[in-house]
Amino acid sequence: MSIIGHLINGESHNDYTRSQDVYNPSTGQVASQVALADKTTVEQAISAAQQAFPAWRDTPVAKRAQIMFRYKTLLEENAERICELVGQQHGKIVHDAMGELTRGIENVEYACAAPEVLKGEHSRNVGPGIDSWSEFQALGVVAGITPFNFPVMVPMWMFPMALMCGNSFVLKPSERDPSATMLIAELLHQAGLPAGVFNVVNGDKEAVDTLLTDPRVAAVSFVGSTPIAEYIYSTATANGKRCQALGGAKNHAIIMPDADLDNAVNSLLGAAFGSSGERCMALSVAVAVGDEIADRLVDGLTQQMQNLKVGAYSDKENDFGPLISAEQRDKVEMYISSAEADGATVVVDGRNTQVAGYPDGFYVGGTLIDHVTETMKAYQEEIFGPVLCVVRVDSMEQGMQLINKHQFGNGTCLYTRDGEAARYFSDNIQVGMVGINIPLPVPVSYHSFGGWKRSLFGDLHAYGPDAVRFYTKRKTITQRWPSASVREGVNFSFPS
Ligand code: NAD
Repeated sequence: MSIIGHLINGESHNDYTRSQDVYNPSTGQVASQVALADKTTVEQAISAAQQAFPAWRDTPVAKRAQIMFRYKTLLEENAERICELVGQQHGKIVHDAMGELTRGIENVEYACAAPEVLKGEHSRNVGPGIDSWSEFQALGVVAGITPFNFPVMVPMWMFPMALMCGNSFVLKPSERDPSATMLIAELLHQAGLPAGVFNVVNGDKEAVDTLLTDPRVAAVSFVGSTPIAEYIYSTATANGKRCQALGGAKNHAIIMPDADLDNAVNSLLGAAFGSSGERCMALSVAVAVGDEIADRLVDGLTQQMQNLKVGAYSDKENDFGPLISAEQRDKVEMYISSAEADGATVVVDGRNTQVAGYPDGFYVGGTLIDHVTETMKAYQEEIFGPVLCVVRVDSMEQGMQLINKHQFGNGTCLYTRDGEAARYFSDNIQVGMVGINIPLPVPVSYHSFGGWKRSLFGDLHAYGPDAVRFYTKRKTITQRWPSASVREGVNFSFPS
């Protein structure tokens, strides 16, 4: 069985003491093994990054950007190979994997603008003959730790801009679907990146803990579940590192009585069930304002859900594929059963779904649960599966109170034709990313991505302009060249 190793100092490392199965979730079969790096292997990767850092930092930013330009072309040329690997190990249908890759490439494109975004700030004559400017200097070795659900896009939220800012990088991708991440790392070297500037170690907690505690790592970016995000943030900051840790979500859409219901039904279907609901921006709660709209919404969704196609990643006709693992399938089914036991109505039931030809795949069909209330476990926690809960409220205000009270604050959406309601909603909702008739308001690469409350720990959001600030430290230089005409005597008061 093939082993997926590490990429350190531009070379493959396949030696290991521990390894783990990697599944093809569509078939439920083990397809390969991934090496789990021990402390020594991660330290080798950090050493490689540390050695490569000075020359890379001093490489003109325009030259660094030229590598990113070549990288973008290589990613496009290898798109099918990348998406095939995502499909094999994640289970995402090819069209969805292509969407993920495209959003990742957008971050590469934004990183190509590094010469522009790193120009800094300059003020002439802040005092007589005195000029002052701020530079944004690289941090050194930075690390990224990423989740299974976007094995290509989420790493590309991090390393393109981190590298363009002059840092060297150690990435620890998800051990559940590492092959697509390894391929995009190889392509980066084909694009001309010097050895050691970007390293990938596969692994689990041992690898992560080494990155969190090694004093040579200056900053850590994390994306994953909230309990792990909290651990990462507290450990990294306790070890003196800069850290941003993005966590889980429970994204609500409020459907107002005046909404274009057909449009809302169609977009809710894609946003709830696309990628089997394994997206941190998946819309998992529909909050219907008034029983009339709730009944029509449930009817519309129920009808459309008869046409949902769940199956193997390789069939382009499928709407979504399997869950990542048997454990995740069982967990999702447990949440459905718990809502039922708590008194909710399972209108469309995806439990025990069988896909012809794939009896052992990790499938759950699209599930619609009505009459969900805020006290239910299925409402309070992130399910991360193809499950849409309907909560009934009497007013938009009541719906907003629910959202604002929730532990998570990643994304949300309001369906309405009322501009005043939309403005009130976006002004007052306690959520980081807001859509108005847009179900998945994932910011484009030249804005930044992040939630509020227990969906993000840290001060800056991911990618876009915030990434430039996260991956650099400001240095402000104030300069004067004394001359006969500008020369000061002794002055003991504060300069003003
Ligand atoms: P996860 O938290 O299980 O794993 C994420 C990373 O942390 C992996 O690299 C994993 O190896 C590592 N890890 C796991 N357990 C660890 C431990 N005990 N100590 C140290 N490191 C550990 O998350 P996942 O299941 O891979 O991804 C799904 C989660 O990620 C969901 O909660 C989803 O909402 C979240 N997510 C959030 C965003 C966002 O932008 N907010 C984006 C994508 C995914």
